[in-house]
Amino acid sequence: MGIRIGNGYDIHRLGPDRPLILGGVTIPHSLGLLGHSDADVLTHAIMDALLGALSLGDIGRYFPPTDPKWKGADSLKLLDQIYQMIQEKGWAIGNLDTVVVAERPKLKPHIVEMQKCLADRLSLAIDQIGIKATTNEKLGPTGREEGIAAYAVVLLVQP
Ligand code: MG
Repeated sequence: MGIRIGNGYDIHRLGPDRPLILGGVTIPHSLGLLGHSDADVLTHAIMDALLGALSLGDIGRYFPPTDPKWKGADSLKLLDQIYQMIQEKGWAIGNLDTVVVAERPKLKPHIVEMQKCLADRLSLAIDQIGIKATTNEKLGPTGREEGIAAYAVVLLVQP
């Protein structure tokens, strides 16, 4: 059985008049993430981890921010495309694990919903999708609430 590991990282700035979308779930907050797409930083980190596991580059290669086609794009739909590519190459997800770094809002009440959303999208069980939330102890850009960052690790298996 072949196995591959991939990791992904992303950060987006916070700003007014934008929804805050993490793992496909809209979370009530006074600020949202800025970006060309819907700026779902968690989904972006997962996509980069999937691509990295097969050395397929990064999401910028497939969905360049300069392309108006991806303006306001639903990141779950972009994830669908990446996952399809992974499957076409003969790989499945063993599990994935993530960390979201946000000073606010409290993400704990939303984690199960994010897991369900991503599990549904990737045809996985909830226990194959780890989502952890941490603050940055008020340090650095995430700690100052200038942005939200996410890290993801994925294990791919050849069924
Ligand atoms: Mg991004």
